Amino acid sequence: MIVAIDGPGGSGKTTVAKLVAKKLGFFYLDTGAIYRALTLKLMKEGVSLNDPLAVSQAIDRTSIEFRDDRVFLDGEDVTLAIRDPEVDRVVSLIAKIPVVREKLLPLQRELVKGRNSVVEGRDMGTVVFPEAEVKVFLTASLSERASRRWRELLSKGKDASLEDVLNDLKRRDDIDSNRDVAPLKVAPDAVIIDTTYKSVDEVVEEVVQLVLQRYKGSGFLSP
Ligand code: C5P
Repeated sequence: MIVAIDGPGGSGKTTVAKLVAKKLGFFYLDTGAIYRALTLKLMKEGVSLNDPLAVSQAIDRTSIEFRDDRVFLDGEDVTLAIRDPEVDRVVSLIAKIPVVREKLLPLQRELVKGRNSVVEGRDMGTVVFPEAEVKVFLTASLSERASRRWRELLSKGKDASLEDVLNDLKRRDDIDSNRDVAPLKVAPDAVIIDTTYKSVDEVVEEVVQLVLQRYKGSGFLSP
């Protein structure tokens, strides 16, 4: 049972997806964290992004795991490091490499195998889980998304200007939406929710209701 949540950075995906998963007792998968962890690895090893074979071989030497809300890269806890602005700058360039998407596809499916899950990313409803029972596309104005991301960085003690955060989001939106493989786009059967003027609780409730409607009478969800 898959609830797929897609959308651009700062649209509220992570916050909403985590809370929906908690409310429903579902497993939660942040696929952006997988791309971010891989980015950290390629940066650390100095792998050239123009060399698909080297990138592919590096992926084969990489282990990415999720344990208790934390992300581990080759056994090391990288939960905070993957949110560095340095990673923000490079991640979309790595995520658009075809061999990267090809190799990460089975990993994402494997991670949720046999579990009711809320999955979030850019291509959940379109490519990775096209059969998802519920698909949601979250969006919000660029200025709102930038100010959310900026406040989040400040609260984590990271230094950033609002202007830099806005420009980075704009640049990533552009790369993510225009790449050849699995671009960010709305699945034809997704429900679009604009979160600009909505509270987190409102959006979470909307998504939970979509799930409940989907399963009404199926006996799948306990009351
Ligand atoms: O969601 P988050 O902002 O952490 O994702 C970081 C980057 O990872 C995105 O900008 C995008 O380039 C890439 N990504 C992707 N496909 C996904 C999830 C993330 O290409 N399913």
